[in-house]
Amino acid sequence: MVIIDNILIMKKEVENIKKKFYSIGFVPTMGFLHDGHMSLLKKSKKDNDITILSIYVNPTQFGVNEDFNKYPRDLKRDLKMAEEEGVDIVFTPKSQEIYPKNFSTYIIEEKLSQKLCGKSRPNHFKGVATIVIKLLNILKPDNAYFGQKDYQQYLVLNKVVIDLNLDVNLISCPIIREKDGLALSSRNIHLKGKDRARALSLSKALKNSEKMINNGEKGKENILKYIEEYILNYGKCEIDYIEILNGNNLSEIDYINGKIIIAIAVKYGNTRLIDNVVLEVK
Ligand code: AMP
Repeated sequence: MVIIDNILIMKKEVENIKKKFYSIGFVPTMGFLHDGHMSLLKKSKKDNDITILSIYVNPTQFGVNEDFNKYPRDLKRDLKMAEEEGVDIVFTPKSQEIYPKNFSTYIIEEKLSQKLCGKSRPNHFKGVATIVIKLLNILKPDNAYFGQKDYQQYLVLNKVVIDLNLDVNLISCPIIREKDGLALSSRNIHLKGKDRARALSLSKALKNSEKMINNGEKGKENILKYIEEYILNYGKCEIDYIEILNGNNLSEIDYINGKIIIAIAVKYGNTRLIDNVVLEVK
């Protein structure tokens, strides 16, 4: 496994790979790897000749009062996990190179990024789109892999790729969960005391909602009320949003039909968790 932290060296390496006509799969992450990240790497390895993992905690996607400094980091452990998974190249760029002092260009998607997380994290998707497009330009992958846990992120990036005519396939992969249902997240390590048990309410509420919908419930408000009460019943938390939207374009829907997403964001102490389920409802 090759570890590269320099953009020019990385570009040269990509040039060499392209000369051999090898396909490149790319998995962008902020590190502190878990089985969710591993599932993306496995899929990339299956689909491509070469798999590149990037590890970079991107400052521009964090708001001023958010957890950039506290975001968990453990590069040594990440590299060991990547090596064991058979990753070919790990790209760990430095902030000085990614955002030099005179940096002044950003990518802004104006519609999808205003919804859900975009309301409480106004510049989040600007930061995400900018770093991912930069990485796509450096690595020139054929395929890039994203988790459905950050479904809005996938939709926003896919829109940017289409709007800017980029030659890459973005692939959304299923949410990987703990045995009890909690969606894996690097931030779960910050869940203190009873918050770990409380956070379980997110996946449970989503699962129960899915059952209600499969049993014929069409009322959006009924499901939203059910989820809110369910989560609050588990104990202290701050609900950021619970929303049911069109699963293709995040537009508002009147009742549950077609492809929908039920998306949740809840804060336990300083730890903000998101979860969702995407359903095809007849
Ligand atoms: P992050 O390191 O949190 O920025 O995530 C990097 C990638 O891993 C993103 O595409 C995430 O959607 C994906 N990811 C994070 N958690 C999970 C999970 N539990 N299951 C599947 N993919 C995930």
